[in-house]
Amino acid sequence: MTDLQRRLADVRASLPESVQLVAVSKFHPAEFIREAYDVGQRIFGESHVQELQEKRAELPSDIEWHFIGHLQTNKVKYIAPYISLIHAVDSVRLLHEIEKQASRCGRRIPCLLELHVADEATKYGFTVDEARSLLLGDELHSLPHVQVRGLMCMATHTEDTSQIHREFASAYALYREVKETRFAHDDTFGLRSWGMSHDYSIAIQEGSNMVRVGSSIFGLRQYI
Ligand SMILES: *Cc1c(COP(=O)(O)O)cnc(C)c1O
Repeated sequence: MTDLQRRLADVRASLPESVQLVAVSKFHPAEFIREAYDVGQRIFGESHVQELQEKRAELPSDIEWHFIGHLQTNKVKYIAPYISLIHAVDSVRLLHEIEKQASRCGRRIPCLLELHVADEATKYGFTVDEARSLLLGDELHSLPHVQVRGLMCMATHTEDTSQIHREFASAYALYREVKETRFAHDDTFGLRSWGMSHDYSIAIQEGSNMVRVGSSIFGLRQYI
């Protein structure tokens, strides 16, 4: 077993069975992904379209690629044919572009709405109120090729763990609210993507069932 494979095994061992692991491989070379793949990891997260395209071309076709970063509308067309999940849908304009490109490919693209719960001005995402109106309103009916499968968020980068708990809890509260109403009979809506290397154990306590972990598996990011 390589060091990387051992770190991956440690992260896996720390997750309850109900929590899916997205191995965040952005800025790491394809060989690292291959090492994780060789011990069974199949879900990888990338945040730059060009980098994702290059890696995908040289890696096995049964990898499920998740797009986890901010996605520019003009880039949707490149990943629409194959992307397994778009985590950070942060505007209605992006939803409409995903609809257009998914329809061209003849597929429904699984997406998560990104919530802005952090106390940082630069982070993208819908406020809880905006996301609620979108999720409970009519607009989704006009987007038949977009499959909203749940919510995603990032907490503030802080040492204050009670703040991190609070931010994830606010995302989970909205999840529960819309799950119990509009999506009560829709099993495809069920994903809560929160938690990264430094805060995923808090995220799991606050209802996450999909964590996006990079540096704890792959080490510090290097530019390739
Ligand atoms: C980079 C990134 C991660 C992984 O971060 P680590 O701290 O390396 O675990 C998770 N989510 C998003 C959206 C990211 O951009």
